[in-house]
Amino acid sequence: MHVRLPAALALAAALLGGCASPAARGPDPATRAVDVPQVDHPAGETAAWWYRSGAARAAGNGAMAGRAKNVIVFLGDGMSLTTVAAARILDGQRGGQPGEEHALSWEHFPATAFSKTYNTDSQTPDSAGTMTAIATGVKTHMGAIGVAAGHRDDCEDSLGKPLLSWLRLADSAGLATGIVTTARLTHATPGATYAHAPDRNWENDTDLPESAALAGCRDIAQQLLAFAPGRGPLVALGGGRGEFLPASQRDPERDDKVGLRLDGRDLTAEWRQRAPGAAYVWNTRQFRAAKDAPAVLGLFEFDHMQYEHDRDPGEDGEPSLEEMTRFAIAKLSAANPRGFVLLVEGARIDHANHEGNAYRALDETASLSRAVRAAIDMTSPEDTLIVVTADHSHTLSFVGYPKRGNPILGKVRGRLTEDDDPESFARDALGLPYTTLLYATGPGYAGASQRQPAGPKRHLHLPGAFEPAQGRPDLADVDTEAPDFMQEALVPMKSETHGGDDVGIWARGPGSSAFRGTLEQNVIYHVIVQATPRLRARLCAAGTCNADGVPVDLPDPEAFAGP
Ligand SMILES: [Zn+2]
Repeated sequence: MHVRLPAALALAAALLGGCASPAARGPDPATRAVDVPQVDHPAGETAAWWYRSGAARAAGNGAMAGRAKNVIVFLGDGMSLTTVAAARILDGQRGGQPGEEHALSWEHFPATAFSKTYNTDSQTPDSAGTMTAIATGVKTHMGAIGVAAGHRDDCEDSLGKPLLSWLRLADSAGLATGIVTTARLTHATPGATYAHAPDRNWENDTDLPESAALAGCRDIAQQLLAFAPGRGPLVALGGGRGEFLPASQRDPERDDKVGLRLDGRDLTAEWRQRAPGAAYVWNTRQFRAAKDAPAVLGLFEFDHMQYEHDRDPGEDGEPSLEEMTRFAIAKLSAANPRGFVLLVEGARIDHANHEGNAYRALDETASLSRAVRAAIDMTSPEDTLIVVTADHSHTLSFVGYPKRGNPILGKVRGRLTEDDDPESFARDALGLPYTTLLYATGPGYAGASQRQPAGPKRHLHLPGAFEPAQGRPDLADVDTEAPDFMQEALVPMKSETHGGDDVGIWARGPGSSAFRGTLEQNVIYHVIVQATPRLRARLCAAGTCNADGVPVDLPDPEAFAGP
């Protein structure tokens, strides 16, 4: 030991010297300061201001020290912190444990932060504005896809405000890219990574108002193919066949459906022409057979993909989110030695919450956990930054004092005083039992609707109007753990609403330590691009970086349209 100590010290000194050398050349990359002008809110919040302020926070948190080669963003749509907590318990209870001590796959990640989700014009946001913030580094209006704040119906204004996503940036930087979702591929979250539209509803040409088409706006589906020749996502998997097929074509799976496009374009055929051997698949059998194709478009449903609970797992059905994630990572990592960028969306957590059905919301969250587990297994934290987050919250509430290990979808059993029987139902002030999970708004309201009688509701409930409820339903003999049980909602609504509270960010890999504190949602983009040298270098090559090499100026997507 005595002889080796000097050598060890010398090594330590060399390592310290290596670490210290950037400081000798300039400011420590971990603490590069970016000046952000003070502005009036919201009037002074330009796209350039959002971009610069996001860059400042990411750089201040040390993102520039990251050396990521690959980036995978997992987006749990509508995955509130309450949804995560309840899903963790359900997942643990399915494994025979009490559940509270369990952790979802990303809950072992070393870095965590809170994300403030509001849109520029809305206290409680939607998925389009929030994903645009995550994907482009700029907060924008509710409903906006890849464009800076304006108005949903103003195509002309939006044409001057396109934003650059990390997916398009990665494509321009020569990295492989991919998109996986359980929603329509043209839905808000995936759409914000490749398209520009002031209104998320412009998914196909039929949805695009004539005035917008005349002004030069294009529908979201066709923009998935609008990449430089030889470029674009190598993998695009999800639902939404209708958006890609012409009205002259019958859906391959649904006899009662034809394509939604009136412009005659068959975008699946155009995809196959992108590269020799490029594949278009619409069921699991075809999907598995396409594993060697150079580029794969999977459209597994006419509309959104099925919930995991309702999915046909056979070869005639559709693949799980985990299988699609494995497929994408394998293909992207083999395709390109420079690295890849991948979005994976667990989209239907949001839909189940909107439908007032906690069972499916938690089950979809557990499904996302398996997809993240696959990414953990297939990548190294040495070179791959994995970020798990949500776009916005929901109104799911976790209430009462259920005893340890009480079924998370069950009625509250437990005691508040020594005299209470822990095995009997806790009672509200009316003397009625209640569930641990409830929604503040939505279709689970107890009053009679046009579709279902007064009392607890069953999924799928699409109410018209409601009648006022006469008190609460008696749940004593109702199986609230059944998959189709709908939790009670306080405020009657056709669709449960989003929540305005913060969501989580969980990260591992190079640059992940910059995810800490309470962050504006658009900071996520800046951590990603600052922590990935190839993305950063491409931004600097376009002249958007300051003297310290921090990308601080709003990039013009036009400058990144090609390699
Ligand atoms: Zn939603």
